[in-house]
Amino acid sequence: MKVRTRFAPSPTGYMHIGNLRSGLYAYLFARANGGKFLLRIEDTDQERFVEGATELIYRTLKDVGMNWDEGPDIGGDYGPYVQSERKSTYLPYAEQLIESGHAYRCFCTKEDLEERRAAAAARGETFKYDKHCMHLSKEEIQAKLDAGVPYVIRQNVPTEGTTSFTDLVFGTITVNNSDLDDNVLIKADGMPTYNFANVIDDHLMEISHVMRGMEYLASTPKYNLLYQAFGWEIPYYIHMTPIMRDAQHKLSKRDGDASYADFVDKGYLKEALINYVALLGWNPGDDREIFTLDELCRVFSVEGMSKSPAIFDVEKLTWMNAQYIMALSPEDFTAHAQKYYDMAGIGHMDKAILCKILQQRTRVFNEIPDMVDFLAKLDEDYSIELFTNKKSKTDAEVSRNVLDMVIPVLEALPEWTETAIHDTLINMAAEKGMKNGTMLWPVRIAMAGKAVTPGGAIEIALLLGREESLRRLKLGREKLA
Ligand code: GLU
Repeated sequence: MKVRTRFAPSPTGYMHIGNLRSGLYAYLFARANGGKFLLRIEDTDQERFVEGATELIYRTLKDVGMNWDEGPDIGGDYGPYVQSERKSTYLPYAEQLIESGHAYRCFCTKEDLEERRAAAAARGETFKYDKHCMHLSKEEIQAKLDAGVPYVIRQNVPTEGTTSFTDLVFGTITVNNSDLDDNVLIKADGMPTYNFANVIDDHLMEISHVMRGMEYLASTPKYNLLYQAFGWEIPYYIHMTPIMRDAQHKLSKRDGDASYADFVDKGYLKEALINYVALLGWNPGDDREIFTLDELCRVFSVEGMSKSPAIFDVEKLTWMNAQYIMALSPEDFTAHAQKYYDMAGIGHMDKAILCKILQQRTRVFNEIPDMVDFLAKLDEDYSIELFTNKKSKTDAEVSRNVLDMVIPVLEALPEWTETAIHDTLINMAAEKGMKNGTMLWPVRIAMAGKAVTPGGAIEIALLLGREESLRRLKLGREKLA
């Protein structure tokens, strides 16, 4: 069988993590099976049109490396790939269903429906369209058409019996037809609904495996009734469990951090995001966790897909991101970090040293400004208690002596290099019979004004430069006076 999958996002202007995962799984499944991956833009809901939203979809997919084989921008044999451009395709199919009795025109107004919905609610029932217009006579229908009364086309769902289908993850699902509503297929403006367009397009585009969120599981029997009405082959279905924020709540836009772009802005690497998202609802069958996109393309399989919801664990994503950051080349690390150096006001400082002190401890790039705030500006009100440290055997008095020794020697250094600073401090410690830590602790505290810093005294001195280092050392000495 020719495997063809599709990602069919609606251009909402926002790439939700759940959406990205739907696309990713469809992509991985196609690649793992030597198939084709299509991109289709589902924009039939014109009221929700968002400027630039389609470009955001292209950009996101390209960014993560999910290349599509057919799609709006590159074409293909099954185009157009934007539903609004396919508008004229749908109506003839709907009319064919009217002919065969599987659909009918409905002239009920919004107000009519509201009234009946309210009445049903008052009786404690959920409203289901009551097939009112299906019983109109040919003449009544013609008269309304002649008078230009607006109408929609509804699916005529059987009221008895059951409909079953098999999902490759969830197995056989059976629903009572009496629970299914007569969905609108074509809206009054002539546009198809999702409920209709997905069937027509998946068939015409020869989609072999329909992969999408669980929210469509309950409607799938209705779609299958349409396939049957046309006499079309039903595709395989693969539904994906929701991504949850916690046991009760779906990860939602309202949480403020559910979009791909938000994570990228915070300084998560796309490779880490894709790797993590791939594991939300799929596992390789062993403990392995780190995968490149290419590796995922080779190992992905439906058997590894989960039947239970996935919990989005930011801590886990952050851990994974740290693994990816640690593995970057120094050049790549700097390229990603530069924006945050600039934000922190240290964009001019030595990149090699910054990389050396930050790369192994950065989990997300937006942590950098907080880690290096002391480099840009010393908090001069720091407490002199910081000079006291048991392990380094320092207290205020020891620190005062160290600074008294160090300041003139550093001031007189012919060059401000790592070797020069290092040898000076270490040799001095040896001469005085001090632990290295006793020498280095007060120097670092005076230059940083805080106890925990990325990098040690020498790296900080190099980053600050001679003038600023000495200014801070002297200030520390004054505070200890
Ligand atoms: N346009 C639908 C959505 O964004 C796609 C569902 C499907 O894949 O069929 O949810």
